[in-house]
Amino acid sequence: MAYFSMEIGLEEGIHTYSGGLGVLAGDTIRSAADFRVPMAAVTLLYRKGHFRQEIGDDGWQREVAAAWPVEEHLEEMGARTAVEVEGRTVHLRAWKREVTGIDGFAVPVYFIDSDLSENSDWDRTLTHHLYGGDDHYRLSQEVILGIGGVRILRELGYGDVKSFHMNEGHAALLTLEILDEAARAAGRREVTEEDKRAVQDRCVFTTHTPVPAGHDKFPIGLARKVIGDRDDFFGLGGVLYEGNLLNMTYLGLNMSRYINGVAKKHGEISRLLFAGYCIDAITNGVHVGRWVSPPFAELFDRHVPMWRRDNFSLRYALSIPREEVWSAHTEAKRRLLGYVREEAGVEMEEEILTIGFARRATPYKRGDLIFRDGERLARISRGAGEIQLVYAGKAHPRDQGGKELIRRIFQAKDALRDDIKIAYLEDYSMTLGGMITSGVDLWLNTPEPPMEASGTSGMKAALNGVPSFSVLDGWWVEGHIEGLTGWSIGDPVRGKGEGRDNSRDAASLYEKLEGVIIPLFYQDREGWTDVMIHSVAINGSFFNTQRMMQEYVLNAYYLR
Ligand SMILES: *Cc1c(COP(=O)(O)O)cnc(C)c1O
Repeated sequence: MAYFSMEIGLEEGIHTYSGGLGVLAGDTIRSAADFRVPMAAVTLLYRKGHFRQEIGDDGWQREVAAAWPVEEHLEEMGARTAVEVEGRTVHLRAWKREVTGIDGFAVPVYFIDSDLSENSDWDRTLTHHLYGGDDHYRLSQEVILGIGGVRILRELGYGDVKSFHMNEGHAALLTLEILDEAARAAGRREVTEEDKRAVQDRCVFTTHTPVPAGHDKFPIGLARKVIGDRDDFFGLGGVLYEGNLLNMTYLGLNMSRYINGVAKKHGEISRLLFAGYCIDAITNGVHVGRWVSPPFAELFDRHVPMWRRDNFSLRYALSIPREEVWSAHTEAKRRLLGYVREEAGVEMEEEILTIGFARRATPYKRGDLIFRDGERLARISRGAGEIQLVYAGKAHPRDQGGKELIRRIFQAKDALRDDIKIAYLEDYSMTLGGMITSGVDLWLNTPEPPMEASGTSGMKAALNGVPSFSVLDGWWVEGHIEGLTGWSIGDPVRGKGEGRDNSRDAASLYEKLEGVIIPLFYQDREGWTDVMIHSVAINGSFFNTQRMMQEYVLNAYYLR
């Protein structure tokens, strides 16, 4: 298996990811290694990293460059290859990092680098920035990832790749290279429909985006300029979308034998978006060994000792004594509140119901929904029982709406200062993600349906006994059992359609927080701990990348 992803988040020091897609790719590779799946992964190097986030007192995000010491983390490979970009030859090399599974089986990850002295100054920058440029820069990167990726794998000795897995459309140009390989093998210079069928047989495509605007598309003029005048390729039936756009999702759909969305509901939405394609669903997960906090890892070691090797055994968390669950949670919470004190200067209290929200800051995630009626929220905290809120999340540098969202949260923080403690932690990262998802008491999630393809942070929380309070979208449609694994926000029936109403969703949030969640937390600790335990036993045991990888192997990879 060759697994291609525009971003892969392996660990904190390697800044080659921006968010959910990359973190999922990293977790996928870890589970492939645990599961001894013969796989090699390919991505780009991004020597200049993704940005570090700083937030001024006014709540405005600033981006700080985040170059990282490549040589300290990765091993340079001797192999070299090249691709044509706009008719220029761009030379490429690869750096390797091995991800080792529980039994020592290694999956290599190759990071492609165009920063070689043989290349022009411009071409040297093509693998510097993740999502850092315009369409032209991005398409050049996709040529390097897709075409360059296949070529470098060949140079590295992977002559016999059974299947290629495209994690989202960014990698879909790999199909052009394997089409060309098929044509060359048949002694032709141009690709044909017959090559197309042979290629389809070897490709697997995962789509992650439920909204049409989120799919990668390029004007055909730009595509011809960057990729070359490949009429044979651009003319292949169904590859193009609407005649004048190269749509990477359609390319992936048309060239794959197996296609999936990333949650059951996302599969349904994708079948509506892309009528005529057979689209399955494999619900995302998180890597258990990576996201369980140290106190919960100790707890599981004592009571379900096989949990790392056999994630299903987390089902037996049902028999862990409640006091031990509570004390492990308290330890994780203390660690988070210590960080909040040091980094944000906010003195939070251990006894208070602590709500977490850490997502990419972008309008559809509605991170400020809970502040829609700040007065009411303050009354709830004064009356039903106190709450405090921990926030984190970066806005994409060009997402003005996302930056304004962060600023509105800062404004709410000031406005509510006398009633509710709120901390916005800077520079959301995987380390911080692990600390917040395990250290709060309740995970809040308020996307506008059906925008959330899956979402994974609620799964990290569930593994650590932290229930979700979430709109019924993405994975939560599958993981939600009211009052047992958490709580829903809004009307589940309306949640299936469009036309969300922010004020009704906010009202539903306030009602349930005041009438159900806060009373349970303060007045029925046993009842609360039962919800924690069910979060682990029902959701932690299932929404992990071990189960997910098993589904890919059984339904998509057909490994023999
Ligand atoms: C888990 C994680 C994400 C993805 O979260 P979603 O809930 O899937 O959006 C993004 N960034 C970081 C740092 C994470 O740890």
